[in-house]
Amino acid sequence: MKTALFFCVGFMVFTNMIFAQFEIKLSEELFITKLSDKIYVVTHHFPWESNSLLVKASDKEIVLIDTPYDTTATALLIDWVYKNLNPQKITAINTGFHVDNLGGNQYLLEKGIDIYGADKTCVLIEERGEKTQQQLISWLKPEQERIKKVYETMVFAKPNKIFKIEDGINLKIGNLSFDVFFPGETHSPDNLVVYIKECNVLFAGCMVKALSYQNLGFREDANVKEWPISVKEIQDKYKNAQIVIPHHGLWGDLILVKHTLDLIMEY
Ligand SMILES: [Zn+2]
Repeated sequence: MKTALFFCVGFMVFTNMIFAQFEIKLSEELFITKLSDKIYVVTHHFPWESNSLLVKASDKEIVLIDTPYDTTATALLIDWVYKNLNPQKITAINTGFHVDNLGGNQYLLEKGIDIYGADKTCVLIEERGEKTQQQLISWLKPEQERIKKVYETMVFAKPNKIFKIEDGINLKIGNLSFDVFFPGETHSPDNLVVYIKECNVLFAGCMVKALSYQNLGFREDANVKEWPISVKEIQDKYKNAQIVIPHHGLWGDLILVKHTLDLIMEY
């Protein structure tokens, strides 16, 4: 069964036609792709594509790693989760301070959903949150007025369950364990990864690039010197990862980590 499952996942990665059959459309901008009975990738285009992860930790518990960009999409997602997965509890994790990590925080907190995040993420929201917001707005084209309005009024809410970034945290939720780990600075000074060992799934976030990405992307907050050292640490620590999910673009296996190292070397 498990082998069959992984075959399916691998097959999906390479076959867009099959891939589409596993996709659930919540809106023109928000999609869910079911990778297994426990793992769902949520992709939000607002306007840039960005992945978060939904994990069914047990029949009663759901974990959401990062959020869609804004309140509307996050509300749509949480609604879908309650209607389709029937959890009694949802727990969230933020893997960084950028809007693609936590744009939905305010909504989650309003709904009583706890959000785990690093102390450093809270500091960066305060120090750089507004600057990042202005940057995003400056990248939008005049015809993207609707999206611009959302970013202009957006509130960057901090996580409410804080841990020291250098300690990381290991969360046991339902039948699964979530190893939340900081390997050092990368794409941002606070980017974390989350490894679910029972599923061999690594949510690698913004520090790992999809194969379709040919450069490092947004580097304003990046530490390009430390980035390769940190990514190598991930490569060593999570050797058994079978599925690696980047924040942007299509997931795959550890080859994405290798691809990222190549991109940093070229840079
Ligand atoms: Zn990102």
